[in-house]
Amino acid sequence: MPKETLIIIGSGPAGLTAALYAARSNLNPLVIVGNQLGGQIAITSDVENFPGFDNILGPDLTDKMKAQAEKFGARIEYDEVTEVDFTNGAPFRLKTYGNEYEADTVIITTGASAKRLGIPGEDEFIGRGVSYCATCDGFFFKNKDVLVIGGGDSALQEGLFLTKYANRVRIVHRRDHLRAGETLKARAFANDKIQFVYNTALDTIEGNGKVQKVTARGVTTGNAEMWETDGVFVFIGHFPNSQLFKGQLAMDEQGFLIVDKMMQTSVPGVFAAGEIMDPIYKQAISSAGQGCQAAIAVERYLESLHDKALAK
Ligand code: NAP
Repeated sequence: MPKETLIIIGSGPAGLTAALYAARSNLNPLVIVGNQLGGQIAITSDVENFPGFDNILGPDLTDKMKAQAEKFGARIEYDEVTEVDFTNGAPFRLKTYGNEYEADTVIITTGASAKRLGIPGEDEFIGRGVSYCATCDGFFFKNKDVLVIGGGDSALQEGLFLTKYANRVRIVHRRDHLRAGETLKARAFANDKIQFVYNTALDTIEGNGKVQKVTARGVTTGNAEMWETDGVFVFIGHFPNSQLFKGQLAMDEQGFLIVDKMMQTSVPGVFAAGEIMDPIYKQAISSAGQGCQAAIAVERYLESLHDKALAK
């Protein structure tokens, strides 16, 4: 069984930054990518708030981070961790689809996944009009009508992106005010193709083989009406990908891993960074910063083990 000094689970900004720092500290990190290299940033359109880049596409930022980590010796494995055993301390055991590993230390950067609305028709029409990724699917809505559900930065940013293709983008929000920041709000308000529909929730998504209509309900009035549309893009936040660690690592009631100020989880030697442990900031740059912190913490942790061994 391969024995590693450090395995990084996940490859978003947190994972790839941890890999860069760990590689530069000669920890020879192995990154196990997960189901999407780059995580959420890889399916984000324009990134305009990552310092040093005026405007960069999410996939391009991912490629740059990966190349930079590899340049210093990080190894990237396209596989997914399916099982972990942290119960007996180090070496920790990890299984992937293709391999089994032991590791002295682990940094978990499994991030977060898009929340679903949980309404009839949603699951049925995924890939046939229902989407959680404008960058991936926007192209299929050339000259069409789409709905964007949500009132945060993602809804506005991805709604703006969709105006490159769609004729009309209706941003449907359950409240009477948006959660998104001022820059995106100003840009969305100024876009002729975008309309805002407040105090409204979807009850159903319907169609024949593909999305054709939805039932929209006024949350204050209770009145429901049928709208025709070609697509429903859902951007209503994320939940942490922590299912794999249930019962082994301490987490809060929402499933975010709990870490100390050295980014260490409830198991010594297991660290976490990015949206898996961050219910507050959730930015590419804050995740990258936490990845950097976790890698430095791993280095210090291994040094302290070494010092203890010498003192014996
Ligand atoms: P978010 O800020 O949590 O916003 C989620 C939105 O979805 C909220 O408006 C929420 O409504 C709504 N919502 C939640 N559950 C819903 C449901 N079941 N039905 C209908 N609507 C629902 O999530 P986000 O927009 O994905 O952003 C996540 C983080 O990434 C944030 O920190 C954000 O700042 C950051 N981000 C930044 C940028 C940028 O700076 N360019 C771009 C994207 C994301 P309520 O308002 O009623 O709660």
